[in-house]
Amino acid sequence: MTARRSSPLDGVPLLADLGPIDGASVLVRVDFNVPVEANEPGPCEVVDDFRIRMALPTLEWLVTRGARVTAASHLGRPAKDGRERCSMEPVRRSLAALAPKVVLLENLRFDPGEEANDPAFVDRLVDGFDAYVNEAFGVAHRAHASIVGPPRRLPSAAGIRLAEEVEVLGRLLDEPERPFVAVVGGAKVHDKLGVLHSLADKADVLLIGGAMAFTFFAALGRDVGASLLDEGQIESCRLLLQGHPNIVLPTDVLALEPGGVFGSHAPGVGPRSDTKVVGQELPYGWKGLDIGPDTAEAFAATIAGARTVFWNGPLGANEDERFASGTRRVAEAVADCPGYTMVGGGDSAMVVDTLGLADRIDFVSTGGGASLALIEHGDLPALAALRAAPNAPGVKPRR
Ligand code: AMP
Repeated sequence: MTARRSSPLDGVPLLADLGPIDGASVLVRVDFNVPVEANEPGPCEVVDDFRIRMALPTLEWLVTRGARVTAASHLGRPAKDGRERCSMEPVRRSLAALAPKVVLLENLRFDPGEEANDPAFVDRLVDGFDAYVNEAFGVAHRAHASIVGPPRRLPSAAGIRLAEEVEVLGRLLDEPERPFVAVVGGAKVHDKLGVLHSLADKADVLLIGGAMAFTFFAALGRDVGASLLDEGQIESCRLLLQGHPNIVLPTDVLALEPGGVFGSHAPGVGPRSDTKVVGQELPYGWKGLDIGPDTAEAFAATIAGARTVFWNGPLGANEDERFASGTRRVAEAVADCPGYTMVGGGDSAMVVDTLGLADRIDFVSTGGGASLALIEHGDLPALAALRAAPNAPGVKPRR
């Protein structure tokens, strides 16, 4: 039987549980999957080192206690983008300036054993190491080899930032100061239906924007024009709405004319297409790409009155400046909110960073998918693996 846990961190070994590490070789799984851009004619460069900086306290903790530290991460999708574009070399240069004593291995995903969670790959990975630390909250929801394998073989610990992420999110869900307002945007409803359920149960108000709002519109019988629609989820959205009167949908939408082009480079492509603000019914062929101005103001007012806010996902196709206003308005409202505010990684973290609002948010998570998975399931594969490590509190030493 598993013991009852009041927090997902219960039973997870922390750095102090590693015991003396002077002279030990420590493998640290980090999430240095950072944006890297070509810098012609010079070498590629890291353009946002947020995730690298967030791992520094753990790396420094280990180095100052005499450990020999090797970090390992994945970067991008080598199977799709090729090895050269996914080389860790630019990240290695960034890290060398911040933590010169830390060695960085090559991209873990260069070996198919990483994503396949192949035990033989785990054996090769941990060979020569005395201990393992997981400081990769961004991938803590993935049962990949470097996440769940090493704790079976080595004394292990959660890194400082990973533990903080889990602790902050746990507290926010367990005992939020009310009103608790959750804001969820983004494209894919099927990915987020579980988390929408959890948030609708826990929050006083759940504001929904982004492309996923159109599947909810369809559930209300509205015509969504050419907007993104997840037909297979209409019934689930209808049931969710039925049981949760605290879900608030947009009342107006900024839409693009039939055949119009959008995207990060769209304004430069072909003739400029027309946009207009419409209600929940979209005219034939029009594509809803942002929340409208009334909705943006209404969402901002709700956020202003909150004592706790959790936000994940853009409210529109914000890569295109014409459809970025709703997301920007929500980001500003979250930053202005005097209550406790948390932004859940990914696109939303990038938005608050780009707008210079990150300092005014109480906690910007390093993991979008991982925070949503923790909200939905109350646990993560990385934490479960650490709880089973030989040095975990409450684990009997193996004979
Ligand atoms: P997700 O990965 O599910 O968080 O979705 C993020 C993506 O959703 C971003 O690339 C946005 O461009 C996109 N998005 C948000 N709202 C819309 C919309 N109304 N129509 C199309 N794409 C959208």
